[in-house]
Amino acid sequence: MKRYITAMTVAILTMCMATAAMAFSGGAGITADEALARLKEGNTRYVAGAAVAPHQDAARRHETAVGGQHPFATVLSCADSRVPVEVLFDQGVGDVFVVRVAGNVANTDEIGTMEYGAEHLGAPLVVVLAHTKCGAVTAVVKGEHVTENIGKLVAPIVPAVASVKSRFATDDLAELINRSIEANMWQAIADTYAKSPLLKKMAADGKIKVVGALYDIDSGDVHWFGEHPSNAALLAK
Ligand SMILES: [Zn+2]
Repeated sequence: MKRYITAMTVAILTMCMATAAMAFSGGAGITADEALARLKEGNTRYVAGAAVAPHQDAARRHETAVGGQHPFATVLSCADSRVPVEVLFDQGVGDVFVVRVAGNVANTDEIGTMEYGAEHLGAPLVVVLAHTKCGAVTAVVKGEHVTENIGKLVAPIVPAVASVKSRFATDDLAELINRSIEANMWQAIADTYAKSPLLKKMAADGKIKVVGALYDIDSGDVHWFGEHPSNAALLAK
C-alpha cells in the first residue's frame, strides 16, 4: 500500500511538474527566450536576403486549421504598410499572433487581443514593435490636426511625446521624432501592464516576457531593447 501511494504521489508530482513546464513554455512548447531567438534568427535571414518563408504551404494551412493555432509570440505593431510583421521576422501561418494599429498603441482593443494571445493561446513572448518614421507618432510630435477618431486613437502617444519634449530641449525635429518613437514603445508596455492585471501577473509570474523592439523600415533590421527599464517597478505597482 505504502509503495502504491508513493508511486501514485510520484506520478501526480510528475504530472504537476509537466503542467507547470507547459504553462511556462506556452502552447507553442517553447520558452520566451527561445521565442525571442526564433524572431531574431528570422529577422537576420530577412535582412540578409536569405528568408526561407516558412509555414506558408497547404500542409501548414491544414495542420493549423485542424490542429488549431499555437503561435509562439504576440506582437503589437503599427498598421504601417512598411511593417509586415510575418515578413520581417520570416515567419508564416500560425507562428505569430499579430496586433497592428496605427502607432502601436496599447488601448483596450489591443490589450484584449494581447491577453488572448498570451493567456488563451499560450504564446510566451510579447513584443511591442515600434518602427522608424512612424506617421502616427510624427503627427503627435508636430501637433498636426487630426480627425476626432484619430485623435482618440493616438491619445496614448501624447504623454510619451510630452515626456520627450520636457526632457530634451531641441529644435531638431528628426531627433524629437526618433526619441518619441522609442518613448511611445515604452509607453505601450507601461500601458499594457497598467491596464491588464492579467498580463501584469503573467509577467510577474514569469509566464510571459514583454519586450520592446524597433524596426528600421529602410535597413529591415530590428533593434531589441529588452524588457522595460522599470520592469520590476511596473510589475510591483
Ligand atoms: Zn507607424
